[in-house]
Amino acid sequence: MSCRTIHSADGSVPHLALPPGALAHMDRDYDYDVDRDPPNVEPIEHQIRLDFMHGGAVHRDQLLGDYNPWSYKADTPATHPWRGVTQKPRGLDYAEASCDVRIREEETFYEHADDDTVLVDAPAYLAARIREASEQSDPHEAVSEVRKNREKWYQELIPGANLRQILKESSYGSLVEKCIGPTPDANSLLEHNAFVGMVLVNDDTDPDAVSRERDLDSAYVLRESALSHANTDEPVALADYGIELPAPILVGEYDSGSQYPLIPWGDALTCSCPYKQSAPFRVMCKHELLASIVCGDHDSIFIPLTRGIHVPHRARRFVSPEIAVSHLPQTAGGHPLP
Ligand SMILES: [Zn+2]
Repeated sequence: MSCRTIHSADGSVPHLALPPGALAHMDRDYDYDVDRDPPNVEPIEHQIRLDFMHGGAVHRDQLLGDYNPWSYKADTPATHPWRGVTQKPRGLDYAEASCDVRIREEETFYEHADDDTVLVDAPAYLAARIREASEQSDPHEAVSEVRKNREKWYQELIPGANLRQILKESSYGSLVEKCIGPTPDANSLLEHNAFVGMVLVNDDTDPDAVSRERDLDSAYVLRESALSHANTDEPVALADYGIELPAPILVGEYDSGSQYPLIPWGDALTCSCPYKQSAPFRVMCKHELLASIVCGDHDSIFIPLTRGIHVPHRARRFVSPEIAVSHLPQTAGGHPLP
């Protein structure tokens, strides 16, 4: 299943074997199957990470209390939680503008629903739904249904049910509880949360034997099954993503007590936590929000290694370089970054 082998600068670290779905869209070996593979990292997902990187740290008083994110409606001001003196987080402002831009950019795919030369540029999931709709008895109606669902995702589910949900005291707030100051920045966040380089092995492998053979610190060679993502109601495994073990992987260790690997996927990383994994419509979890703010502070698309084994750069790359160079965060109305 793997098709690309990435070696670490440190020869004692096992290589990272990437499946076709983890490669860049432009890569000749890139291959992604909507029905077979886990959800892709959508273009908007990369963009929203960049938006929160540019937006800077989230202030503690911007976090929401008992707000119900499902009540959010883009065109109903009464459902908008940040009003008056409490400003909306800047990253969210940029993210909402990015969603609007994507709606406009994707119009062409519905207008050319039966033209494969156009659909080849559409995000994989959308292209698959449009192709399916084109084969229905009333393709026009079916394609407009796909469009309606997609626009609802951009206008309501992403900004409301997803992003407002993680901007709650009970969500992102749980990662910043012990941080000092009104605006937890990267330094403060990384005092209580860490990105740790580890070599993960499967249950048939003795981690101590691997650390001895390879002369690696045994504190950072672990069975994948020891981490939090393997111990949820619907656990995911690196193997579900086609990643072979042993693998050098970046693992987030959070103040909330969990350890979640960041899985190389879709030319970036995706968090393995249950919030992110259990609903494909979610484009960000609180851990990815934290990583965005840390990366933004470091002005880099690579998550900095807090401690542990020197994993390959690919295991720390949080955003596609291709999207990073082309995306310009802006606020609604098209005003560029101040
Ligand atoms: Zn997560």
